[in-house]
Amino acid sequence: MWNNTRCPTEKPTTKDITQMAKRIIAAALCAAAITSSTMANHLDPNNPSGTIVDRFADIEVLRYTVPGFNELSLDRKLFIYYLTEAALAGRDILWDQNGKYNLALRQIAEGVYRNYSGDRNDKDFKAFETYLKQIEFGNGAYHHYSTDKFTPGFTQKWFEGQLADLMKKQPALASAISPEETRMVMRLMFDPSFMPKRVNQAEGADLILTSANNMYEGVTQKEVEDYFNAKKDPADKTPVSYGLNTKVVKENGKVKELPYKIGGLYSPAIERIVENLNKALPYAETELQRNSILELIKFYTTGDLRTFDNYSILWTEDTTPIVDFINGFIESYGDPLGMTGSWESIVNFKNTKASERTETISNAAQWFEDRSPVDPRFRKPEVKGVSAKVINAAILAGDAYPSTPIGINLPNANWIRAAHGSKSVTIENITQAYDDASHGNGFNEEFVIDKPTCELLDKYLFITDNLHTDLHECLGHGSGRLLPGVDPDALKAHGSTLEETRADLFALYYLADPHMLELGLLDNPDAYKAEYYKYMLNGLMTQLMRIEPGKDVEEAHMRNRKLIAEWALEHGKKDNVVEMVKKNGKTYVKINDYRRLRELFGELLAEIQRIKSEGDYEAGARLVEQYAVKVDPQLHREVLDRYAKLSIAPYKGFVNPVYTPVLDDKGRITDISVTYEEDYLPQMFRYSDNYSPLTRK
Ligand code: ZN
Repeated sequence: MWNNTRCPTEKPTTKDITQMAKRIIAAALCAAAITSSTMANHLDPNNPSGTIVDRFADIEVLRYTVPGFNELSLDRKLFIYYLTEAALAGRDILWDQNGKYNLALRQIAEGVYRNYSGDRNDKDFKAFETYLKQIEFGNGAYHHYSTDKFTPGFTQKWFEGQLADLMKKQPALASAISPEETRMVMRLMFDPSFMPKRVNQAEGADLILTSANNMYEGVTQKEVEDYFNAKKDPADKTPVSYGLNTKVVKENGKVKELPYKIGGLYSPAIERIVENLNKALPYAETELQRNSILELIKFYTTGDLRTFDNYSILWTEDTTPIVDFINGFIESYGDPLGMTGSWESIVNFKNTKASERTETISNAAQWFEDRSPVDPRFRKPEVKGVSAKVINAAILAGDAYPSTPIGINLPNANWIRAAHGSKSVTIENITQAYDDASHGNGFNEEFVIDKPTCELLDKYLFITDNLHTDLHECLGHGSGRLLPGVDPDALKAHGSTLEETRADLFALYYLADPHMLELGLLDNPDAYKAEYYKYMLNGLMTQLMRIEPGKDVEEAHMRNRKLIAEWALEHGKKDNVVEMVKKNGKTYVKINDYRRLRELFGELLAEIQRIKSEGDYEAGARLVEQYAVKVDPQLHREVLDRYAKLSIAPYKGFVNPVYTPVLDDKGRITDISVTYEEDYLPQMFRYSDNYSPLTRK
């Protein structure tokens, strides 16, 4: 499961989302960082993290760096290197899964672009360049988030002229792609009614027939459902993930599955993945890791889903290695029925220093619990902190590229999670890149009340935001207990909002505690104010940018933030703790008394914990309805207008670093170098040239 939540005033909440077992789509609606298209990138040239590489349509492409890679041992670098090769080898699989004509489309479009010798400022060419960048970002003809088909801004006539020229100059390409295939690609590009949406979730439609992805062909939704229902045994306590690695088709009137495996669908790409997994194998850090890789190879060789479960269990239980990776058919967001996994890979290694932070917090769990500002009857006598690992990604591939999650929790199979646990990670070099890109982008200047507060945020928001997440995840959710006999589902539809409220309040309360300094997690007693200001600003104002005019706040995390901020604003009124002030016709949040604000967070935490511990549904519902749902239309309009002026790219993604073996004069690898210079389209073209085993040459 992915956590994608990221926007300028918001931070990731990995487990909240992963526990809901669904993708949080908020990230796509909000910007991770805000940068005007005309604004020059201001970043330190020696630190390319967060640099803007490209900007087109609704997309911004950033660079991320891989801190700590150069300090790894040669064995670990080699391990990572071969795993990145295995990651890149699967790119074509995802393109084909995303649509039957995507690979031919890419080949034709890249060919036209690279063959073009006319005026690069030509209107049609410029529009075509944008289109090409869009399909590279979508891994096919469809937007990665909305899954709607891209619309060309150039004429079909112009493109046909370019294509004729290309085919004349490259007869090999002309013979590799059949006239029929070319005709279908032209329809895909220029006929809006032809295969219009990759994943259709609209109620009432046949989701298989109306989705353009290539995971099913010639079958109806009912046929697919009947087929799998016949296979499933409701009494099976350890079911395999049916359909995870297959395309469902009809042959001679019979529904059947074509497995993705060596000798099956996508064989040339899978062979190359396996070849590189084999090269990586000698560098595995533990016996368990070695066995899990062997099991993965066996899965790719046989396509057997029981083997995949065995692999998942080994992978889950192998928690000690520094280097780790996923490579396979993992998330099923690309299938309207949520069964077939889209191919992806992320290679990563533990960020030991950042992981110390989560370990420190986890180890101090009992200290925090014993002093929590709630009724002692509701405290846990024995609390165990959850430790989530912090990692740096070395490569993003398949469905995790160029758009990527910032947190991942796997495996997805519920019975494996229950019996063997799961691994939860935060990808800190990606969140770092988002943060780097957001500095000086105009957001704080527009919404934050004054310069000293802006400076406080610049200096302390990244660390306090990370700490807030750590406290929320490692302690907040695990703190407190229900009174005997209280139904855990007593808060019903408000349960998740109030649970997030509780975890956030626990984190906010302790972020300001002197113990954070004693534990060495913060170095300034005022640092917490950065998170407090951002939290109140977000809850009272800026998160409204994600709500359409006239709509209520619905999503649980957004409700929770609004509940906390509005409650604190109202209950601090008589002491003037927080106020909304007007300057030059614009509304700002002003915090007058941070210490008192902390006390208010503590008071609300005590009440929310009581509601939870006693299962007081009415009190919980009253709080949510009073503070968390309704939007002030005037303030909403103002936020939307001010936000629109910042000219934000709503979606972001990344180019990968380039890894190159360094050889000695005998041809032995002595090092792996990492560089951050490759641009967006050149990277895409290099991948198409060197990592496209499914493309006909
Ligand atoms: Zn949470």
